[in-house]
Amino acid sequence: SAPATARVDLDGNPVAPLTICMIGAGGFIGSHLCEKLMAETSHVVYAVDVYCDKIRHLVDPAPPHLAGRISFHRLNIKNDSRLEGLIKMADLTINLAAICTPADYNTRPLDTIYSNFIDALPVVKYCSENNKRLIHFSTCEVYGKTIGSFLPTDHPLRKEPEFYVLKEDESPCIFGPIVKQRWSYACAKQLIERLIFAEGAENGLEFTIVRPFNWIGPRMDFIPGVDGPSEGVPRVLACFSNNLLRGEPLKLVDGGQSQRTFVYIKDAIEAVHLMIENPARANGQIFNVGNPNNEVTVRELAEMMTEVYANVSGEPPLDEPMIDVSSKQFYGEGYDDSDKRIPDMTIINKQLGWNPKTPLKDLLETTLTYQHKTYKEAIKRQMSQASAS
Ligand code: NAD
Ligand code: UDP
Repeated sequence: SAPATARVDLDGNPVAPLTICMIGAGGFIGSHLCEKLMAETSHVVYAVDVYCDKIRHLVDPAPPHLAGRISFHRLNIKNDSRLEGLIKMADLTINLAAICTPADYNTRPLDTIYSNFIDALPVVKYCSENNKRLIHFSTCEVYGKTIGSFLPTDHPLRKEPEFYVLKEDESPCIFGPIVKQRWSYACAKQLIERLIFAEGAENGLEFTIVRPFNWIGPRMDFIPGVDGPSEGVPRVLACFSNNLLRGEPLKLVDGGQSQRTFVYIKDAIEAVHLMIENPARANGQIFNVGNPNNEVTVRELAEMMTEVYANVSGEPPLDEPMIDVSSKQFYGEGYDDSDKRIPDMTIINKQLGWNPKTPLKDLLETTLTYQHKTYKEAIKRQMSQASAS
């Protein structure tokens, strides 16, 4: 069922309904993007992934009002000949598929490099050969460390924006040495960006590259032992949520001094929606997508989440809500960290008029309310079984 009013792009032209091949549609970002496209557009989505738990409500089976709008294609893009056919049938391919949890970068560097570079190659090739538009998901991690991080801690230049603000067309990519396998992910993502850019320059591929800066919200990753492996280490939002749900202290890696800017998934999805529907403004661009106003240290994030979770759950916080752990203990050999990530918003603002809206406090309230509702009962049951046996 098409929306009653015809959609127009930022230049006032009608938006034609598109067929979109979305690879990695069953993940965190993909699930929100599928929901958005189903609710607000008449585009058709081929949702490609190896699993579909997070989009089950949309595809298994599709609810009657979405009949013909979304189909799930369970396939591994590493080795499935159906991929090319799907890309050929679509107008636009969006590639979200990746191994993208830091705990894997230093412990499964081969899988990380294959997933982020080798497995993305055929996607780029099929788009280029068939003259199809590609929106590829990279990462803010391609910037690596800030220039300022190499100055002494109290050096005044560290406060100057040119020493830390990350700009798509100016900032260098600064990674640690090869023994710090943490950077296997960033390096693979950088190389696929360069390859896509080169396909654009030499063969006219129409592409957009997205660099997400810590998008967070409901359905991010998994809660270990509930909907993911008990020994698994998800990204920080899910790690801290898990600790809060179980009433255990939040673990601060190497003192929790690293800084991050967090953006609400629903704000960020608006930006992707604009890219989809404004190809003339988005093609050939690399976009930072983040919220420069939501900067905290990891320690501050832990403090905020502890406070917000106490309000949401009605359970008082622990007397000692946080503990320090070394990165070697927590992630193992070869871990390293990005020190600070402030996205420059000039390009996305100019091209798409996009700005993030949701303050960190508000997005944590929404997200922790969701975590509590979704997981608390399961965790209670699990903990009472464990103590009974
Ligand atoms: P996610 O892990 O939730 O989603 C990735 C999805 O890709 C998963 O559902 C996974 O099953 C699927 N996938 C992986 N390999 C596949 C394969 N070989 N075949 C088919 N499906 C496969 O992660 P996400 O947070 O939704 O991230 C999506 C993209 O955005 C990734 O490329 C990631 O590097 C990038 N990114 C995200 C963030 C963020 O803040 N969430 C930050 C930086 C970069
Ligand atoms: N981190 C932490 N405790 C945890 C999980 C993560 O202190 O339980 C830190 C991690 O070392 C990093 C930051 O939180 O400095 C963000 O980690 P995340 O996994 O979300 O990914 P990143 O932003 O590094 O890509």
